[in-house]
Order: sequence, then C-alpha cells, then structure tokens
Amino acid sequence: MKVTEHIEKANGRTLFSFEIIPPKKGKNIQELYDNIDPLMEFNPPFIDVTTSREEYVYVDRDGLLDRKITRMRPGTVGICAAIKHKYNVDTVPHVLCGGFSKEETEYLLVDCHYLGIENVMALRGDAMSHQKYFEPSNGGHHYACDLVKQIQDLNKGKYLHDVIEADDKADFCVGVAGYPEKHIEAPSLKSDLKRLKEKVEAGANYVVTQMFFDNSKYFAFVEAARQAGINVPIIPGIKPIAISRHLQMLPQVFKIDLPESLISEVEKCKNNKEVRQVGIEWCIQQSKELMEGGAPVLHYYSMGKSSNIEKIARKVF
Ligand code: FAD
Repeated sequence: MKVTEHIEKANGRTLFSFEIIPPKKGKNIQELYDNIDPLMEFNPPFIDVTTSREEYVYVDRDGLLDRKITRMRPGTVGICAAIKHKYNVDTVPHVLCGGFSKEETEYLLVDCHYLGIENVMALRGDAMSHQKYFEPSNGGHHYACDLVKQIQDLNKGKYLHDVIEADDKADFCVGVAGYPEKHIEAPSLKSDLKRLKEKVEAGANYVVTQMFFDNSKYFAFVEAARQAGINVPIIPGIKPIAISRHLQMLPQVFKIDLPESLISEVEKCKNNKEVRQVGIEWCIQQSKELMEGGAPVLHYYSMGKSSNIEKIARKVF
C-alpha cells in the first residue's frame, strides 16, 4: 500500500515509522533484523531503507595506494524486498540522483516494481567527500525534482528514450525531503520552499523532514509550506541524541541547530548512558507534542540501533 493510503486509512491517528541503514558490505543481515524485531509491535505501516553514495577507498598494492570507488552499504532494494517478505510491511527504498545515471535509476525502479514495492523516496544525495558541491553522475539527474519527474514518467508508462510501448505501468507513491531549518545550499528558507513546491508539482506525494530538535521549527515549516500551496502530508523525521559527540556531529552533518536547553542537559551528563537517557526523554516530549499537533506519522531515524526508539515508542504509541 502507498504511504499516502496508510495516512488516509489512519483517519487522523498518528502512525509510527522508522528508517534503517543497510549493513556494511560483508556484514550479516541478521543484525538488522534483530534491530527491527522489537519495533514491529508498534505496527509501522512502512519502513524506509537509506541508500549510501559511493566513496573512495584506498587499497595497498605492494606499498602503493590504489584508489578505488565503491559503495560501502549496498543492497537497499534487496533489503527492502527481504523486509517486506519477512514482516509483511511496506518498504520505502531511497533512490538517489548522485552516483546513478538515468538508465541505472530506470533499472532500479523496474526492480522495485517487479518486487511489489509501491513507494520510493526521491533524493538528490550529497556531494562526495572530495567534492565541494554536488555533481551529477554522467547521465544522471542534477536535482531531486528531475528524479521525481522520471518516476512519474514511469508511472505513465513512459520509459527513457521512448523505446517501448508499455502496457504494464508502475504506480509509485513518491516521497521527497523537506528542511524545516532550510537545506544548507538554499539561499533562504523561502527559496528552499519554492524548490520543495516544484518537487510536489512534479508529482511528489508526501514530504519527510530532516531531523529537528525544536518542534516549533516543524510547525512553522508546515505552516509556511501550506501558505506556499504545498498540500501533501509533511512527515516529521526525528532522532534521539545518543552520545555527547552528537552535539557537534549532528549540526555539522545535518546543518541543524540544537536548542540551548537540550545542550545544557547533555552537558550535565557524566557519561553516554546518561546522555542516551536525556535523548530518550527529549524525544518522548517531542513525539507527544508532534502527535498533539496533528503530525500524520512520526518517522524515527534509527541509524540501525533500535533500543532507544523502542523505549520512546513504548511511551508514545
Ligand atoms: P534537492 O531537492 O534536489 O535540493 C538540493 C538543493 O538544491 C536545495 O538547496 C534546493 O533548494 C536546491 N535546488 C533544488 N532545485 C533547484 C534548481 N532547479 N535550481 C537551483 N537550486 C535548486 N542522502 C543520502 O545519500 N541517502 C539517503 O538515503 C538519504 N535520505 C534522506 C532522507 C531524508 C528524509 C532527508 C531529509 C535527507 C536524506 N538524505 C539522504 C540527504 C539528502 O540527499 C541531502 O540533504 C541532499 O543534500 C539534498 O537532497 P534533496 O533531495 O533535498 O535535494
């Protein structure tokens, strides 16, 4: 079922969902299942699986370093199919512009269609670590909006290069990213919202937000989006702080601000066990307020570890 259908069917009740990252290449999938298992009692209607960009690795060849390009966490579509099969739950693979040509994206979408995957999250991806700015791959898309258009073309039976007359059409429900604190490259929140509106006009059916720790930013973002004419569901993405280093890491990686009161609570902690507890309590409060504020789904960034999400869900759902 589509994410938007799950939301409609819930009839105003807030749903629980979460996002996982594929294991590193060479690791067993069992650890992933061990982290999903405890969360299934909260009935997630869908689970997102991220896609990682390719990166450079250096291989020692007789004393000389050889630079190779590789994807360290492959398997997004396979994991989606495995989870769907094992838990009978909808899965949402993240599809990136970065690192893929349009042809490769078409093949990936065809795989998803054959596997009965009905939702995809269309994202641009970040620049690679050696790049200052994002650069599309050879024959790839520049912006998520162009990817949304490709997916919607496929939904109409229009494949690349008009090579075939399709009689079996895909029918993907498409999610896109939104940024309550604006995307780092956007010159202003207003212009970022204009870009978000373009994605929705191109056919995006719902938005999932970047993580935030101050709910007023989400509520203001939803209000501004509605005023801008964006009327699709806007799902808040949230994550509990788990280690003291998150105070520096999260703002750096996700370009977000942390509230002063959260920072001072974390700074008072003597060890990461205490930090984890502060993170859980903050996230419970955030979740309850978002629920009261009418959020359609609470989407938790689990980063592959579920024990704190389980504690939060137990108090909230
Ligand atoms: P876009 O919507 O393409 O926007 C990128 C920037 O370009 C924005 O600043 C926008 O304002 C601007 N822009 C858009 N269109 C135009 C235009 N026509 N002209 C000029 N400027 C324009 N990354 C991963 O690698 N893997 C994942 O699985 C993943 N999952 C994510 C899930 C969520 C919910 C979120 C919020 C982010 C996720 N990301 C993921 C990170 C994401 O790839 C980065 O934030 C990326 O930098 C932007 O992606 P986007 O889809 O928002 O890009």
